[in-house]
Amino acid sequence: MPEPIFQPLPDKPDHPGLEQEMLTRWDAEETFAKLREQNRGGPTFSFVDGPVTANRMSLGVHTAWGRTLKDVFQRYKALRGFDERYQNGFDCQGLWIEVGVERSLGLNSKREIEEFGLEEFARRCREVVVQSSEALTRGSIRLGQWMDWGRDYFTFSDTNIEYIWKFLKIIHGRGWLYMGHRATEWCPRCGTSLSQHELTQGGVYQERADPSLFVRFPLLDFEGQSVVVWTTTPWTLPANVAAAVHPDEEYGRRANGEWVAVKLFPEDTFVERLPGRELVGRRYRGPFDDLPPGSQVEHRVIPWEDVTMDQGTGVVHIAPGAGGEDFELSRVHDLPVLSPVDEAGRFYDDYGWLHGLTTTEAADQIIGRLGETGFLVEAGLFTHAYPHCWRCDTPLIFRLSDDWFIAVDEVRPKLLEENAKVEWVPEYMGKRMDDWLRNMGDWNISRRRYYGLPLPFYPCSCGHLNIVGSRAELEERALGGLEQLEELRRPWIDRVAIRCESCAEPVERITEVGDVWLDAGIVPFATLGWENPQWVEEGYATGAARGLTKADLPDHEYWEKWFPADWVSEMREQIRLWFYSQFFMSVALVGRSPYQRVLGYEKMLDEEGREMHASWGNTIPAEDAFARMGADVMRWQYCAQPPERNLLFGFGPAEMIKREFLTFWNSVKFFVDYANTVGFRPSWSALNLEGALDPLDRWLVERTHAFVRDAEGAYEGTLTVAVMRAYTEYLDDLSNWYIRRSRRRFWDGDDHAPFQTLWYAIVQTLRVMAPIVPFVTDHLWRTLVLDGPESVHLAGWPEVPEPDRGLLDEIAAVRRVVELGRQARSNSGIKLRQPLRRLVVEGTSLDGHLEEVADELRVKDVELGPVEAVELRVKPNLPKLGPKLAKELGAVRDALAAGEFEELPDGRFRVGAHELAPDEVLVERGGREGWAVASGDGVTVALDLGLDDELVLEGAAYELIHQVNSLRKERGFELTDRIALTVPETERELADRHGEWISREVLATSIDVGGALEIQKS
Ligand SMILES: [Zn+2]
Ligand SMILES: [Zn+2]
Repeated sequence: MPEPIFQPLPDKPDHPGLEQEMLTRWDAEETFAKLREQNRGGPTFSFVDGPVTANRMSLGVHTAWGRTLKDVFQRYKALRGFDERYQNGFDCQGLWIEVGVERSLGLNSKREIEEFGLEEFARRCREVVVQSSEALTRGSIRLGQWMDWGRDYFTFSDTNIEYIWKFLKIIHGRGWLYMGHRATEWCPRCGTSLSQHELTQGGVYQERADPSLFVRFPLLDFEGQSVVVWTTTPWTLPANVAAAVHPDEEYGRRANGEWVAVKLFPEDTFVERLPGRELVGRRYRGPFDDLPPGSQVEHRVIPWEDVTMDQGTGVVHIAPGAGGEDFELSRVHDLPVLSPVDEAGRFYDDYGWLHGLTTTEAADQIIGRLGETGFLVEAGLFTHAYPHCWRCDTPLIFRLSDDWFIAVDEVRPKLLEENAKVEWVPEYMGKRMDDWLRNMGDWNISRRRYYGLPLPFYPCSCGHLNIVGSRAELEERALGGLEQLEELRRPWIDRVAIRCESCAEPVERITEVGDVWLDAGIVPFATLGWENPQWVEEGYATGAARGLTKADLPDHEYWEKWFPADWVSEMREQIRLWFYSQFFMSVALVGRSPYQRVLGYEKMLDEEGREMHASWGNTIPAEDAFARMGADVMRWQYCAQPPERNLLFGFGPAEMIKREFLTFWNSVKFFVDYANTVGFRPSWSALNLEGALDPLDRWLVERTHAFVRDAEGAYEGTLTVAVMRAYTEYLDDLSNWYIRRSRRRFWDGDDHAPFQTLWYAIVQTLRVMAPIVPFVTDHLWRTLVLDGPESVHLAGWPEVPEPDRGLLDEIAAVRRVVELGRQARSNSGIKLRQPLRRLVVEGTSLDGHLEEVADELRVKDVELGPVEAVELRVKPNLPKLGPKLAKELGAVRDALAAGEFEELPDGRFRVGAHELAPDEVLVERGGREGWAVASGDGVTVALDLGLDDELVLEGAAYELIHQVNSLRKERGFELTDRIALTVPETERELADRHGEWISREVLATSIDVGGALEIQKS
């Protein structure tokens, strides 16, 4: 037997296997390098990668989602000839890294870290980044992500740090930098304050049961009277200085002397009622006046308009050292501020018997004491959403702290103006950004930690704040210690004192490090060489990044070329994190957004819709997914996902995708098998079809062009889900119409036009889908394209003419009639193989396609005319209507089932407030006796169900043909093998009447009657 023209395909693709093979070939052939070379000097597409935190030792499937989207659009732009940067980034500092190292070393407090030694601690942190970045790179390559691996940026490089220094110096020049003294959210385990945006991350607010206390404060000048407050944080009571009432609300005194808001206790009887403002100024005895701090305070009732009447007593306990709003009130009313706990959340020594206790440990003792002293009215439990540290999960407290802030009010209008120019996909995410920009407070940039950007602030006792803006400036002003400066990092940098530029006295750096979002936010400047006079080869590989990357530090011209990014993409959470920090820094530095278009996407959950947690056993390591589903199937799952909804990721959906993918695989295999049989050999130079084509071939060409155009629009709109939808519809047309209708021409094999047409369609599809499923498309490309570009990724985007939409609409109408005909048939219970006499079609013209419809539906005659319908049943078309109606779907379905709808023109229906489009409903019409009716999209068909002997015999012939062909397949006969057929005696009439037809269909050279059904090669 001669060598087949095309390598035969197995029944199913082995995704992981063929992916490994492709990785090896891409590597050997340097496919990615060739692609970059091919596009060099082309128009630019600038993408800036949001850095992944390098603290995990393997790629997670949620990270793989974002990486896939980044890869898809870079690949698409590359197919279109765009020159791209492909720089990957790693985030390398901050609590994520530190806490991991602390755990691995068994350290539990800042004191233990300092005893361990900051130098060694810094080296351990770097080691985590080294190992994690290697593991993440391996995983990403396996995923098929094409990046300039080895030239990644690492945010702990000295260069990155210097750029942030420069930014801070500029900010200070504008007067936006200040040190704030305030009560702020604080993690007692990490010993640092947290910023507002850190609290917006997922998992921060968790349900928690806390003590719920009603406590009375006895009034000093009103014997037997007290105000009653409610609190869920007993530890803050020793820091109480005031009780706030709403000045305009009514308060009542119970018979036992307790004052509470009337609105909150409508059932109670009161012996006296007063507006809140009349209680203001009354003095009371504090709950812990026996401890030194409380004894110094004159406690009093203050007015506060923000006292709410939805829970508690309407009287609010105020502890300015332990609450954010409380602290603001202390400024307005000049209240003393008691700060009860230290950095680790333990009571200070002057709190007597409480000293050394944590806020949680103190709770029980405080409650017991209040009971003994008669302050306690009632104690219980209260469950609420309470903020926890995003990294170590410790419940946060409020604590007084001196932190460094960037004031945002002056730049806020410009931020809003610039955000309005950004194109956000989906649109609502831009609205979220806008809300955030309107409402965010000043940016707290300091953290009392170790492994982070050293804030270059050197305050002097003379009152001057020195800010170092670069390493060169540091070296120039240093009083010593430069020789030991390994990196711009603690502890080395702390040993370099400088001279105050105002009074010339030596000054030291504050010990705080910076918020990690400064590290990631500066990336569009630090990696692109903003204001850098000269290109430095490997110039980004400084400090801790030395030896990890070969990234250059480009010059300013390069920045001009690549800034702003055309596109960035991350999950929605990043709106207040990376999207924000780089946006803020960029608007502050150069007055414009660092990106023009954003793709955001929601969260990943497991396939049942639960959060993925290691402790629940439902996380999926990417390694497992690569091995069990393959990277293409993962990428498909990510790309089919609408970005505005949570992705339910798992092996179940993966199985469905594999099955769905088989339709395409089978179409290609069909082509390969028959093309090998007839010896069809395509040529790349004759890719585009020329000359007069058979109408069906011409239609497939036009349909393919429409698909290419639709996919192009979807890619340009950065919506992979729209590419996937276009593909699914196209594939249905390709396999369930074109191949179905053309089967006989492929079997006959004497006309090569259908082979050429199908080859064209498949090849173009591979090019369109290559960004989404890069492995299998390249594998099939190498099977089908014998003399063209060696890889689909080097073949460019198909340029196609505007399709003939008229022709496409015409065939779409034919397909709709056929679908309705099938629906009518399946409702009637008559087999598809049984020929019927007649079909009546109403609502469409079917110009010149009556015969095709008759053939497809196996009816003798198709007539156009009115259908007499008697009963109308409408059901929701779930795939279309489900996403549109969401929660209201149930109500609409019930209304439809109950017949509560109105039929509108053009196949639309009204149900309550909803108007349903023709493709959103499935319509059945019960017809006259003996007819099956179906309708939809404004078209109605009626199938005559009457059978006669002739039709029944024909039906039997189709049945036999089907049986014999199944048998051929079962026995593994070649497509071209001829057979001798034996049929049972009962089929004699069939053999007599339809023998010739049957022989043709099953390639039989003879039919014998008598004995069991049997075939033999002849
Ligand atoms: Zn923490
Ligand atoms: Zn000074």
